[in-house]
Amino acid sequence: MSSFDVAIVGGGPAGSTAAYRLATAGKRVLLVDRATFPRDKPCGGGVTLRAARLLPFSLEPVIEDVIERVELGLRYRHRFRKATQAPIAYMTQRKRLDEFLLRKAQEAGAEVREGETVDARELDARYVIGADGCNGTSAKQLGLGGGILHGVALEANYPHEARFVGTMVLELATLAGGYGWIFPKGDHVNVGVGGDESEGPRLRAELARMCEAFGVDVDAAADTRGYRLPMRTPETRLAGENAALIGDAAGLVDPFSGDGMYEAFLSARLVTEAILAGDLASYPAAVERTIAPLAHAGWGARAAFTRFPRATYLVVRLPVTLRAMEKLLRGELAHPAAARGLERGAVRAIARLAKAAGV
Ligand SMILES: Cc1cc2nc3c(=O)[nH]c(=O)nc-3n(C[C@H](O)[C@H](O)[C@H](O)COP(=O)(O)OP(=O)(O)OC[C@H]3O[C@@H](n4cnc5c(N)ncnc54)[C@H](O)[C@@H]3O)c2cc1C
Repeated sequence: MSSFDVAIVGGGPAGSTAAYRLATAGKRVLLVDRATFPRDKPCGGGVTLRAARLLPFSLEPVIEDVIERVELGLRYRHRFRKATQAPIAYMTQRKRLDEFLLRKAQEAGAEVREGETVDARELDARYVIGADGCNGTSAKQLGLGGGILHGVALEANYPHEARFVGTMVLELATLAGGYGWIFPKGDHVNVGVGGDESEGPRLRAELARMCEAFGVDVDAAADTRGYRLPMRTPETRLAGENAALIGDAAGLVDPFSGDGMYEAFLSARLVTEAILAGDLASYPAAVERTIAPLAHAGWGARAAFTRFPRATYLVVRLPVTLRAMEKLLRGELAHPAAARGLERGAVRAIARLAKAAGV
């Protein structure tokens, strides 16, 4: 008999929440991470309400700000500010968030090993889950993954500025396939830019431009870091007989927003449900049902903003579109195609632009 029911490689948001769920359900779980926590991860640390709602416990201890206002700009020329009807996201720092989630898994009974790099093929467990992010090795070792496309992003932290408190700033279409952001945290602001992989050489200049446009002192940057954003394609293999991939290891980052924590939490839940049902083979279909419709809309919005930035921005700034986006971010709407009434019209307008852009 195996020493563990499930071994999980990687203790980020995906791995830790899968470990928590499986241990809570009474499974013998091993969670291994090559880092020692607390460790950081390049990330804006924005947890949408939709993502937070998926968790079986509150994130309250690690929330540093609550987003109740958005400022949406287009290429530094057009901009508007709007209060949201209710909070849409929590701001966290990954260093604190990930340690919090890892300890939750430990408290639930998972055996946690930190500072260990393992070969996923050599783990003594009935099931192995690859949750080691976009630079991990478990996918290859398990004969899974493949066909993943990458975006790129660069971010840095700057001194805290009160004017950004409670506000999410997004500067759209500044890079092909991407945008710039400012996220407020407890004692600093996180500024970043991201887009298509081919935009890599432009990231540094674009980050400086973003800072200048918003009066953030470029030279005060701390912890400047670049990282990749993995996005799966139909060729990506998510599960085998006894193994599966979740989170970034599965390429589940949203192609438009670059968010991946919702997908990390959701894939952790889906793989847990499949394992508890003794039917791991059902996991890829569950991802198709729940995450694929969002990713499809994400590819569409990404293409529409890259090819027709002004027209797409004009649709996005309509009150009805903003309402639909808010509902999506709060998890009140499963995916854009599920919108009804006038909101459906707005979603269709973006879908038409996406179609004209080839998606
Ligand atoms: C610049 C940037 C900004 C982002 N901003 C946001 C945002 O604001 N909101 C959002 O929702 N998403 C954001 N994302 C995406 C988000 O960071 C990822 O989707 C998320 O971290 C995925 O979680 P994960 O658990 O799958 O992987 P990770 O968080 O990458 O965790 C993987 C873990 O595996 C460990 N590991 C790696 N290799 C091994 C090994 N061989 N053995 C053992 N352990 C290993 C690592 O140490 C790590 O702890 C951003 C991404 C980037 C790059």
